[in-house]
Amino acid sequence: MLQLNVIIVGAGVGGLVAALCCARKGYSVRILEQTGGEDLGAGIQLSPNCTRVLHDLGFASELERHGCLPEAIEIRDWQTGHLISSKVLGESIRRGTGYPYYHMSRTDLTQLLRDKVEEEPRIQMHCDTRVDDFEQQAGKVQVSSGEEKFEGDVLLGADGLHSTIKDKLLGSTRPRFTGNLAWRATFPAAQLPPGLISPVAALWWGPKKHFVFYPIAGGELVNCVGVVEKTVWQDESWMTHGEPGELRQDFAGWHKDIEVLIDHMDSSNCYKWALYDREPLAHWSVGQATLLGDACHPTLPFLAQGAAMAIEDAAVLAICLHKAMSVEEALQHYEALRMDRTARVQAESRRNGRIFHMSGIVAKMRNLVASTAIANRFDWIYGYDPMSVSK
Ligand SMILES: Cc1cc2nc3c(=O)[nH]c(=O)nc-3n(C[C@H](O)[C@H](O)[C@H](O)COP(=O)(O)OP(=O)(O)OC[C@H]3O[C@@H](n4cnc5c(N)ncnc54)[C@H](O)[C@@H]3O)c2cc1C
Repeated sequence: MLQLNVIIVGAGVGGLVAALCCARKGYSVRILEQTGGEDLGAGIQLSPNCTRVLHDLGFASELERHGCLPEAIEIRDWQTGHLISSKVLGESIRRGTGYPYYHMSRTDLTQLLRDKVEEEPRIQMHCDTRVDDFEQQAGKVQVSSGEEKFEGDVLLGADGLHSTIKDKLLGSTRPRFTGNLAWRATFPAAQLPPGLISPVAALWWGPKKHFVFYPIAGGELVNCVGVVEKTVWQDESWMTHGEPGELRQDFAGWHKDIEVLIDHMDSSNCYKWALYDREPLAHWSVGQATLLGDACHPTLPFLAQGAAMAIEDAAVLAICLHKAMSVEEALQHYEALRMDRTARVQAESRRNGRIFHMSGIVAKMRNLVASTAIANRFDWIYGYDPMSVSK
């Protein structure tokens, strides 16, 4: 087995899980994160393909404690609220795949990961450390954050959509604005009329828009995401505070349940995100450096798989490093195992956006076939086992 010092840039979900997977294989890990470590209070769906990795890292009881087990995904019509289709999750998906599907607060998830990282003696975390450059020489990587230098054997760019490591490694290209804007808000569920929130992922389809809501934090909070097609994104930042008044206008004419949810939002808990993606890259790795998660395959959230793909990457990468005779061989093996799957998830997420936002007669036809079409549509995603695929 190679003795390795791994440098990970970025302490998002992908970077933290990669650190834990690498430490478990016996490697020394340094994580460099530009922020102080705070996370946005939003919700996240964790499907069995990634909860199996988190279980393997020892998080089963913490996930059970902090997660909500959704009974189903329920798809409804934007105007009437009628049920178009549903897919059973809950115990049925746990039985089928061996692992649960959870709704969670992202803050809870990253806190669990950070606590474990802090306990792990092989991992050192450096917050407020923005990486601006790196070079590779004689089988080593040297990473710079201003005047500070860090040396290692492997560099892992887990630095998200606007990845500096990707730009330095493969050339600078801007991600593409997909024409979708996501509103996100999280607030106490107790404020809502009884019966509005149930233990399901509620997905409402409408022309050029959709709205998702589900309980998180053991049912104490509700997480809402409203996606709207827009031709331009005018704000400089890709994420900014949003005014619920504007959100209300975006969803004017929608069913009263959606109006009620929007009425409970305020500007302190309401954010707007411009949704970007990029075409699949031809390579992720050069020499001793590679990429992971949104840095190499930013994914629209319409399959709820972006973080799940980053978690799968992390598990596969650690196994490849463990098995290979050299770092280069490990990184080539890793990208060969991961590129097709992540590209397919990117493409299917985009396709879902088109399906969710249909209108008129096409939407009516979509609704007729939705109930049968949805039944086994996710098996290839949820049934994937990153720990055995690389064996
Ligand atoms: C509206 C919405 C809903 C979503 N819902 C889901 C869902 O339900 N399920 C799911 O699986 N996915 C979901 N996703 C996708 C998911 O959030 C992302 O795919 C995931 O966060 C990517 O993780 P990452 O670790 O690759 O990158 P990030 O989470 O972006 O982390 C990157 C980290 O790198 C740091 N960083 C960046 N540059 C530097 C630098 N130069 N030096 C040091 N540090 C740096 C950043 O500060 C950040 O901490 C959703 C996304 C959106 C927008």
